[in-house]
Amino acid sequence: MCGVLRSSDAGKKAVLMGWVNRRRDLGNLVFIDVRDRTGVTQVVCNKELNPAIHEKASRLRNEYVIAAIGTVKQREPNTINRNIPTGEIELVAEELRILNEAKQPPFLPGDTVLPNEELRLKYRYIDLRRDAMQFNLELRHKVAIAIRSYLSSQGFFEIETPFMTRSTPEGARDYLVPSRVQPGSFYALPQSPQLFKQILMISGCDKYFQIVRCFRDEDLRADRQPEFTQIDLEMSYPQPERVWEVVEGFLSAAFKTAGYEIKTPFPRMSYDEAIRLYGSDKPDMRLPAMNDVREAFTAENFQALAVNPNLPVMAIRIPKVGELSRKERDEIKPLFTGKGNAKLFEDFKRLEKSFPDSAAKIRAKSSAETDDLIVIVAGDDKLAEHPSEGGVKPEVKQHDHAVYTAAGLLRVALAQKYASRHRLFEKTGNASVDFRFLWVTDFPMFEWDEEGKRWAAAHHPFTSPHERDMEKLSGGLDAAEDPNSPLAAVRALAYDVVLNGTELGSGSIRIHRQDIQRKIFHALGMTEDEARARFGFFLEALEYGTPPHGGIALGLDRIVMILAGAESLREVIPFPKTARAVDLMVDAPTPVSEAQLKELGIQIRKARE
Ligand code: ASP
Repeated sequence: MCGVLRSSDAGKKAVLMGWVNRRRDLGNLVFIDVRDRTGVTQVVCNKELNPAIHEKASRLRNEYVIAAIGTVKQREPNTINRNIPTGEIELVAEELRILNEAKQPPFLPGDTVLPNEELRLKYRYIDLRRDAMQFNLELRHKVAIAIRSYLSSQGFFEIETPFMTRSTPEGARDYLVPSRVQPGSFYALPQSPQLFKQILMISGCDKYFQIVRCFRDEDLRADRQPEFTQIDLEMSYPQPERVWEVVEGFLSAAFKTAGYEIKTPFPRMSYDEAIRLYGSDKPDMRLPAMNDVREAFTAENFQALAVNPNLPVMAIRIPKVGELSRKERDEIKPLFTGKGNAKLFEDFKRLEKSFPDSAAKIRAKSSAETDDLIVIVAGDDKLAEHPSEGGVKPEVKQHDHAVYTAAGLLRVALAQKYASRHRLFEKTGNASVDFRFLWVTDFPMFEWDEEGKRWAAAHHPFTSPHERDMEKLSGGLDAAEDPNSPLAAVRALAYDVVLNGTELGSGSIRIHRQDIQRKIFHALGMTEDEARARFGFFLEALEYGTPPHGGIALGLDRIVMILAGAESLREVIPFPKTARAVDLMVDAPTPVSEAQLKELGIQIRKARE
């Protein structure tokens, strides 16, 4: 290979095959850097020693594929290249073959400046020749192997599940595949193997995993791929902690391949606590938690500030930001995305002037140092004049939630803005990256869908509610459309693994009893008939001796991206799609022929019809 020869090989014969990375013509001497995925080696063609080879070498262009046969020679001390591992030797060519010519590529793998991403994706085969991409592909391979062998060592079997199947709800649209033999019928590509892996537990497989492609037709969002890879697993009889232990085990193995030791077990926090302290269900633990500083204010303060005393008053502290200019303070406002009901006090200095006692209490409660930035987010007093009247209504919680999450979003936006200023996100100690993992547990089972005016599954409908919340499920179809139904308070045995503010994966303990699964379908507004039509096979399977079971799925692409230190998922996926779900290299999707459509019994409607 082109990256392996060293001084100790001097005098040996060698054959190198690869691409012409660079050619330098010095008259009598032509130097060729020949490259493969392992590196480059300099090949020398000397006119005096071998005029025929020299002539051939003069014809070489970038990215020609060649074979060079020759003798390894130690370089003169003044020509040693310390920047590359093969820099102490060169290959003196005795034979040179051009295996294939190449057109001038739109960009070169060795270029230091990257072309725009569209060009990179269109000519992905050239782009993948670059060192960085080869590195990412190798890393991805090693990470996958490490995960596979860890899970196999724990008794998991990798079992394939179908790609042509029927819809499994994970909250996105399905990609559909028309059936030719049954015109008018469609397969759905799996959004995840959820039902198959549960059925594998019913089938006695006990521990399943799969590194598997999932397909979700979601609205355009930056850095999402319509097909992506999950590390999907399921096991019988686990407590959540057992699932977490398995995940911590394979993540340790995966991170180790990239040279990182991670600390396990990961800390755990309930969803409610995460919202209360971080205003997010995927808190970035590299930053301090927020504090509810309601008690720092008197009734008069609340009035003067037009702040609602019944709602949280959140103090966000971003360490070591230092003094902010007037202009910089003004830049905070646009970062605040809180809607109507949450209110921002970005000028702590002013607060300090007008309410010195309250400000001092806030500083103390948030353990703020002098150069820390403090920003306050509170509830507008107009908003919730009523919620506390007549006992605690569900909206009170919703208003609380709105203040927490508005503060949480601002906390992250501020940290990102000031990250470079005070190295907030940089390593601590001698680790090269500060990896802060976290388990977030006990998610709400349902989410109110404002558009559909009904409850939707927060994770997916196969997640088990907490035993203690089972009685809240008996509202049937009426509860399904009532935003104030007890469904709001149902907590699930669902958990997410979070790293530095990013969700790496979600899972849950599942429902294994048919009667409860039915109730959940009803709570989601599905009639008995609809439930049977969509999930009859599954409801039936549940009746034949289903062991309690649970599992999780983590995004492989995201893990590799983090380990590679890459900026986008597209950097670690060999053939990714653009944000508009287009493959620029093969040019997909495309229209198909009339004949193909006819065979499938499909007619395309004009866009406006
Ligand atoms: N099927 C779920 C998902 O893809 C993961 C799980 O619950 O295991 O998000």
